[in-house]
Amino acid sequence: MALAKGYAATDASKPLVPFTFERREPGDDDIVIDIKYAGICHSDIHQARNEWGNSTFPMVPGHEIAGIVTAVGKNVTSFKVGDRAGVGCFVNSCTACKTRDVDLEQYLPGLVGTYNSFEADGVTPTYGGYSDHIVVKEGYVMSIPENLPLDAAAPLMCAGITLYSPLRHWKAGPGKKVAIVGMGGLGHMGVKLAHAMGAHVTVLSQSLSKKEDGLKFGADEYYATSDAETFKTLAGSFDLIICTVSAGIDWNAYLSLLKVEGSMVLVGAPENPVPVHAFALIGGRKSLSGSAIGSIKETQEMLDFCAEHDIVADIEVIDIKDVNEAYERVLKSDVRYRFVIDIATLN
Ligand code: NAP
Ligand code: ZN
Repeated sequence: MALAKGYAATDASKPLVPFTFERREPGDDDIVIDIKYAGICHSDIHQARNEWGNSTFPMVPGHEIAGIVTAVGKNVTSFKVGDRAGVGCFVNSCTACKTRDVDLEQYLPGLVGTYNSFEADGVTPTYGGYSDHIVVKEGYVMSIPENLPLDAAAPLMCAGITLYSPLRHWKAGPGKKVAIVGMGGLGHMGVKLAHAMGAHVTVLSQSLSKKEDGLKFGADEYYATSDAETFKTLAGSFDLIICTVSAGIDWNAYLSLLKVEGSMVLVGAPENPVPVHAFALIGGRKSLSGSAIGSIKETQEMLDFCAEHDIVADIEVIDIKDVNEAYERVLKSDVRYRFVIDIATLN
């Protein structure tokens, strides 16, 4: 066992505080990563505050991890000491299944989350990236391409793959009109990725305050949803709408923006249920779906796509002692566009 330093939520109503804990001893199949940067995903906040009702404490959040390999077990062939490594939302996937489905593993029942979860033994808690190092089984670590800076690449491990996967699944590309709802951490990645895939991209944000950035990220159009005219102007416009909003909105109004046979995909995970009128779907054979992150294989594919197209997140790097303040700013949509913790500030 090695001692690790980090920050933890000890209770749903308390700020995160410094926390020391034990990481497991690396086995023959494990990779030890010295964490350099950890992104702050809105899911960290939902879980640290028990908004999804499944939190266990103490909790060390963080599933957008970028770092450097410091040790590998004797069976490990895909990484060596000194390599650039990324870890996303899960660190094991097949504890309840006989075989690993490398294409859809993020939907397997035996998924072991990077934090707020339990190891394959069912009793040892997992702790995430707001910490100095992590031990992860080979096969659950991504290789971060050399041309991507580690700090701005960290958010690709969750925000990047969460948008890449549905954009690929619903075939965003030339001739497709895609709308991204909410231009926060996930949303701004969606704009960059959909643009690079060749789709026509529209941002639907609460206001026009981030319009200039949206156009710079590759959006073709940018509308404020606070303006009722937006819903009239864009009625029946989109093949695909990806909703990244972390709160409840008028889902029926957004469904009216789909073309016949269009799909709206929820990646944002608000606390409360999503109310939808049957006729919002029936009148147009429309689909309402959800999508979660992506497999390890697809996450690596996304990283290679980002390397090819020079895509990373736009970030604000922060000292770890400012994490609670950063949470408050995320809640106010006051982030441009992802906070990333510089883990060196733990010392
Ligand atoms: P974020 O940075 O806070 O972005 C959310 C954006 O939603 C905000 O920037 C804001 O965009 C918009 N928004 C917020 N409150 C709103 C409201 N009341 N009405 C309308 N729009 C609102 O969060 P994130 O890290 O991108 O995460 C977004 C959601 O996705 C969270 O619920 C998170 O848990 C979830 N998530 C899901 C997955 C998955 O696998 N499905 C993965 C990661 C995260 P504007 O300022 O542009 O309006
Ligand atoms: Zn996340």
